[in-house]
Amino acid sequence: MTKQHKSIAIDGPSGAGKSTLAKALAEALGYLYVDTGAIYRTVGLQACRTGTDPTDPAAVMALLERLQIRLEHGKDGLQHMYLNGEDVSQAIRQHEISAYASAVSAIPQVRAFLLAQQRRLAEEHDVVMDGRDIGTVVLPDADVKIFLTAAPEARARRRWLELKQRGQERAYETVLRDVLERDDRDTHRAAAPLRQAEDAVLADTTDKDLEQSLALLIQIAKERLQA
Ligand code: C5P
Repeated sequence: MTKQHKSIAIDGPSGAGKSTLAKALAEALGYLYVDTGAIYRTVGLQACRTGTDPTDPAAVMALLERLQIRLEHGKDGLQHMYLNGEDVSQAIRQHEISAYASAVSAIPQVRAFLLAQQRRLAEEHDVVMDGRDIGTVVLPDADVKIFLTAAPEARARRRWLELKQRGQERAYETVLRDVLERDDRDTHRAAAPLRQAEDAVLADTTDKDLEQSLALLIQIAKERLQA
């Protein structure tokens, strides 16, 4: 089958600015933005709500099979996540859900179960898709692959500010510790660990503000799309 749509894969650790930048890049190019972390967060939310151990493969799979997860792009242009019909787009952003998402996403069967949904979106639309394994596993033939990163302290600072703006105040040290723990889990897991694809361009945003980072991503995307 010939590939009809363009795809841009953006991977990297948490707090590198992936979702904000991927969304802005999608807007600039007129592509659909797909946040795959939100899918894992939705599964994590349900594990949390039901008191399911997020590291227990059998328990999480049993949960998944009874679950209806829908990803929709609303009229507002934003991605909404539905869990058994309920819009959980806000609920999945709670700080505590990050660890649940990270735990369920380490289970290979969970990843396999969610793969088809992600690939289908890229078959049907021009996409900017962000996550941890988009360039390596989900869309290995993506037209553009970007590995977006920043120093852990810079990422923790951004995450701390984001939580504060949402009224979820945390000590900076706690946020940094959580960022480091999540990095460790995401890069060392056996199933689709976070790593830079060989053909991905590295973009480091440590010393760049949002505007500068976006300019860099647009430049990389345009160069690669024309190549
Ligand atoms: O990107 P976000 O921080 O919302 O993702 C939540 C968690 O989901 C990550 O810590 C990661 O463990 C997992 N994830 C993943 N693969 C993806 C996207 C997210 O394993 N493609």
